[in-house]
Amino acid sequence: MTQEVPIVVAKFGGTSVADFDAMNRSVDVVLSDSQARVVVLSASAGVTNLLVALAEGLEATERFVKLDAIRKIQFDILERLRQPNVIREEIDRLLENITTLAEAASLATSPALTDELVSHGELMSTLLFVEILRERGVDAQWFDVRKVMRTSDRFGRAEPDVAALAELVQQQLAPRLAESLIVTQGFIGSESKGRTTTLGRGGSDYTAALLGEALQADRVDIWTDVPGIYTTDPRIVPAAKRIDKISFEEAAEMATFGAKVLHPSTLLPAVRHDIPVFVGSSKEPKAGGTLVCNKTDAPPLFRALALRRSQTLLTLHSLNMLHSRGFLAEVFSILARHSISVDLITTSEVSVALTLDTTGSTSTGDTLLTSALLTELSSLCRVEVEEDQALIALIGNELCRSVGVGKEVFGALEPFNIRMICYGASSHNLCFLVPGSEANRAVEMLHSNLFE
Ligand code: ADP
Ligand code: ASP
Ligand code: MG
Repeated sequence: MTQEVPIVVAKFGGTSVADFDAMNRSVDVVLSDSQARVVVLSASAGVTNLLVALAEGLEATERFVKLDAIRKIQFDILERLRQPNVIREEIDRLLENITTLAEAASLATSPALTDELVSHGELMSTLLFVEILRERGVDAQWFDVRKVMRTSDRFGRAEPDVAALAELVQQQLAPRLAESLIVTQGFIGSESKGRTTTLGRGGSDYTAALLGEALQADRVDIWTDVPGIYTTDPRIVPAAKRIDKISFEEAAEMATFGAKVLHPSTLLPAVRHDIPVFVGSSKEPKAGGTLVCNKTDAPPLFRALALRRSQTLLTLHSLNMLHSRGFLAEVFSILARHSISVDLITTSEVSVALTLDTTGSTSTGDTLLTSALLTELSSLCRVEVEEDQALIALIGNELCRSVGVGKEVFGALEPFNIRMICYGASSHNLCFLVPGSEANRAVEMLHSNLFE
């Protein structure tokens, strides 16, 4: 069922709510689209990192430095309001909470405490944004997303309960849309006992798409600091070109393989309900952007390059693998027990190589490669660990059904030591590992050969 009045969910990332001027630019963007009825915000840029540091448990002096830095970011915004006193008490209360929780973390850290602490970034940015909207004459309502965003209790990387979310959104959020503009938090949720959870770093994109799905929205807009999705990260390759229209599959592959512009799970809800996702810059809204949708015209062979740093390569050697059955099953059951999803995998007669994403994508920054995992794997086989690898993914269409791809790609990569290659499982990607220190140069060279 589609709504009678179209709904757009507009999400603004950290740089789009970094300070008073950025927030006002984002307000301009919201007001320029009468269909934008739900606004999802990240914490102001820098705040989540400071909160994560506090959650790791700091000694008093360092703690005060971080607390001051957070206070300064939020007060610089507050003080520019015409009537700062309206929410000063509320912001002060949240800052006091942060101080108490950070003190607790310095005594004993825990994933639940970390999520409670880091959630304050989004709580503060949304309160300030609502006040700016009100001062600009807009009837806006602050909404605590934790009332509807039910998740598992996997703190730091909680999984949303999509059915519960849909029901709660219809009960508690949808009726409010007729009353006023809703401003809510990205990234955070709550588990069944009511404790605060987070969806993993960069998770506000995912929140926006999940709310879009639950509200049966007509579009989800992701407003960030780049006017769209580019052929590769424009910070690495300034010659990267904007992609005006891209399919869900291609954009999902890009996000999965490290294009930070979208959180990897963002497109799951969008695909389920066929909701187009627009990506644009809140600094230059008129510069246009990228539309991610179901259909694109003539998808190109090579679409984009994505890069993910901090990958760990595990090579498992076992003579028992020779002519035996069940070795891989054992390896994967160990990995499953440790909740590890493997990215790339290659096998040979007596060894198997696999990569783990160790970028610390949980909000708690936990490493996946724990000593418990290594001990278990070592009881089965000899384990070799190579850290600081970079995974480069070439995203495209019909890659493994086209001639000449190998020559074109690896010809361009001649000067590099390619540590591992994965190709053939998906016609949308060709992935390989290079040493972390060579990643930027490899992306530049490949981009200049395939896209410029
Ligand atoms: P936000 O805080 O708004 O969520 P992010 O920093 O998470 O913003 O994502 C935007 C950044 O993603 C850009 O500044 C850019 O450096 C990076 N990025 C990586 N790959 C791409 C890509 N292919 N196209 C555009 N931006 C990309
Ligand atoms: N504030 C959170 C982070 O920095 C979530 C987000 O920005 O999407 O990871
Ligand atoms: Mg982001």
